[in-house]
Amino acid sequence: MTVKLFNTMSRRIEEFKPLVEGKVGFYSCGPTVYWDQHIGNMRSFVNSDILKRMFIENGYEVRHVMNITDVGHLTSDEDTGEDKMEKGAKREKMSVWDIAQKYINSFLRDIDSLNIIRPTAMPRATDYIKEQIEQVQKLESLGFTYEIPEDGIYYDTSKFPDYGALGGQNLNELRGGARIDDSGKRNPTDFALWKFSPKDKKRAMEWESPWGIGFPGWHIECSAMSMKLLGPHFDIHVGGQEHIKVHHSDEIAQSEPIVGKPWVNYWVHYEWLLSKDGKMSKSSGDFLTVQDLIDRGYDPMAFRYMLLMGHYRQPMDFSFEGLDAAATGYKNIIKKVAVLLQDNTTDTIDEEAFDRWHDKILGAVSDNMKTAEALVYIQELLKSTDVNVATKIKLFEFIDRLLGLQFIDRAHKLVVIETEIAPAEVQEMADLRAKAKSDKNWALADELRTKIDEAGWTIVDTKDGGKLVKKA
Ligand code: AMP
Ligand code: ZN
Repeated sequence: MTVKLFNTMSRRIEEFKPLVEGKVGFYSCGPTVYWDQHIGNMRSFVNSDILKRMFIENGYEVRHVMNITDVGHLTSDEDTGEDKMEKGAKREKMSVWDIAQKYINSFLRDIDSLNIIRPTAMPRATDYIKEQIEQVQKLESLGFTYEIPEDGIYYDTSKFPDYGALGGQNLNELRGGARIDDSGKRNPTDFALWKFSPKDKKRAMEWESPWGIGFPGWHIECSAMSMKLLGPHFDIHVGGQEHIKVHHSDEIAQSEPIVGKPWVNYWVHYEWLLSKDGKMSKSSGDFLTVQDLIDRGYDPMAFRYMLLMGHYRQPMDFSFEGLDAAATGYKNIIKKVAVLLQDNTTDTIDEEAFDRWHDKILGAVSDNMKTAEALVYIQELLKSTDVNVATKIKLFEFIDRLLGLQFIDRAHKLVVIETEIAPAEVQEMADLRAKAKSDKNWALADELRTKIDEAGWTIVDTKDGGKLVKKA
């Protein structure tokens, strides 16, 4: 099936043509592991997961590389400010290495609970210092660098005429708009390739280099690791839209002189998840994690469903009202799938109907990832009277592979929960609790609820009284 994607570089939707028939190589900018990733970050990882699943369902072999940034970037785009990893280490009184491991673990836990397929490779920036130094040396030999004493080795963007093309700006516009500062940079858009450690202080993370002890600049890790693991020319590079103007423009400026043009064929950028005051971000402090949602009783799949109701090129507001609505929508589909699963059908698969619905749904996602349209087709499929139960179930298996929403898994759990009958002693405790409640003996009612809970059951208070549900 034809795959179409919006390419930020050309600013239009293009038909995807792989470099190697049947294969896709893509690189995504991954987490900085100094703190928990929030659900805004997760929006971008879910988008990459959909991109990957869409290619897999179209028969491609996908190689996905996502970096783990465990070197502390400075907190601003301008290579100034505090080192993020050191900031995390100070906050939690741990070493920077332990902080990195702690947040790699929590990141993996979160992507697993969102049913995101793990990348083919997740290289850590600190394991590729040698490759980063080699690239800086190469740029140096090509005449793209200069040194700012006691600061670092910088990239001279005036040497790269296409600088800013990704963001639709040329160098003159960028220079004109930026402030003149006293940083020693030749052009405001220049950026650090290698930073020197301060003379009077030992940094928690620093390495030997031809320019003295220091650490790599922010952008070079992505150029080094993508080329190492995907080759010098690959298909797709993705990331959040805030990376267009600086991070990805800088990656292009570093990489194209090394590999020759073009380095990447398609650039795909995701819009943000917004909280009350704009982009959900760690620095604003107004953020939630997947674990926060779980603690509030939400199924991570309901959050994933909410994300797929939008389009990756549109910002999305986060609110609990929105999440509640999505959770209800998600649950309604599960209930219908559970009914299909309970129907012990002897139907045979209707291949023609299967292909028709399969192509409609995969077609929507292949068309610049229109996941919301795919969700509408799913509702139509559930309502349709001309597709038999066995075919619908087979289609849901495909839908789960494509969208990763685990409809069948959750529907199975629902069937188990709704058919299982509580043991007599649990039922007895529930009856006693109902009596305690009507006697307004809240202490006893609470005590019984705890005991029921310990026995592996939960009382859900419904309008018809307490209902016993086995904990999943
Ligand atoms: P970071 O750990 O900050 O480097 O972010 C990891 C990924 O999450 C990057 O690709 C960011 O572009 C993306 N990201 C950060 N904040 C948001 C947000 N509010 N909505 C969507 N994506 C985001
Ligand atoms: Zn990157």
